[in-house]
Order: sequence, then C-alpha cells, then structure tokens
Amino acid sequence: MSEGARIGPNAVLQLAAALGPAHGPVVFERAGLAAYLAAPPAGMVNEAEVTALFQALRDTLPAEEATRIAREAGWRTGRYLLASRIPPIVQTPMRLLPRHIAARLLARAIARHAWTFCGSGRFSATHARPLHFRLAGCPLCRGERSATPVCTFYAATFETLFRSLVDPAALAREIACQAAGAPACVFEIAW
Ligand SMILES: [Zn+2]
Repeated sequence: MSEGARIGPNAVLQLAAALGPAHGPVVFERAGLAAYLAAPPAGMVNEAEVTALFQALRDTLPAEEATRIAREAGWRTGRYLLASRIPPIVQTPMRLLPRHIAARLLARAIARHAWTFCGSGRFSATHARPLHFRLAGCPLCRGERSATPVCTFYAATFETLFRSLVDPAALAREIACQAAGAPACVFEIAW
C-alpha cells in the first residue's frame, strides 16, 4: 500500500457529476476534498483521496443511495472512456468480432490500463466465460467493513465497456469484496 500511488481523475470527476449539487458538497467536504468541486483535478490524483471519497460517500448517504450514485459514476466513467479514450477505429471492428474474442481483447486492454484506476492495487484477469477480474488491495474499499460488496463503481465501469463493445446484455457484478473479508475484490462479467 504505497502512499504515493496515483489514480486517474475519473474516480473524482465522475463521482462529483453523479453526486450533483445535492450531495456533492457534503461528500467532498467529509472526505476533506471540497477544493476539488471548485477546481476539479486535471491529472492523476493520490489514491488515498479516492479511498477517502468513496468512504465518505458510504458514510454520508444511505446504503442504497450510495450504491446508486457509485453505479452512476461508473456508468459515466465507462461512457467517458468510450467517448474520449477508446478510438472509434478500435471500437468499430471490436463490435464485429465474435463476442468471446472481443471479450478477451477488452479484458486485455483493461488489464493493460489497470494502473490508471487501481493505484497500488494488483489487477489480474481470468479469461474464461464468465470472465473474472481480480483486484487485490482495491483502493475503493480499503479499510471498509461491509456485509456486502461495495465496489460498485468498478463493476459499473466494466459493465458499460462490455455492453458497448462485447454484448449489449453483458452484466458485471462484484462477487467477492475485501470489505466483506475476501482476499481480493473479484468482478464477474457475464455476456
Ligand atoms: Zn470490493
């Protein structure tokens, strides 16, 4: 758990957008990050800030509402990646491929870019159907204790990418979470 690990700003920017003016100030204030609402981060942020923000989300809002907002932030992140980070020249042919090949390509691309979203966490993928992503040292739930998985933000981001590029009916869910005592957070993606 390195103090200096960094994470792309989407976790902050898209959560702010999903919270909106009704909840944003309370959650960001609680995380000690109110300054980000006035001056959104342009580059990568300290992963401890992301951990604090998602903890503040869960501490501030009722569980159902926190989950809904984390999911919305994940959807927004997926849509942002599709609009701005994955070129159409990659997306168009992927949609024409057999789904198991597209799934494998997308899983590899996500693994290659895992450093941008998992900080000091360690990401790995199992290429079976359903597919599993494993994230040990997940920054979203670090220090959290919960009976149920809480890393909805990642699940929703993965789901948006798989729905767009692999199968419109793809489903992603977190089937094990460090917050619930698992050794790593595990996301299952079925299509
Ligand atoms: Zn988790």
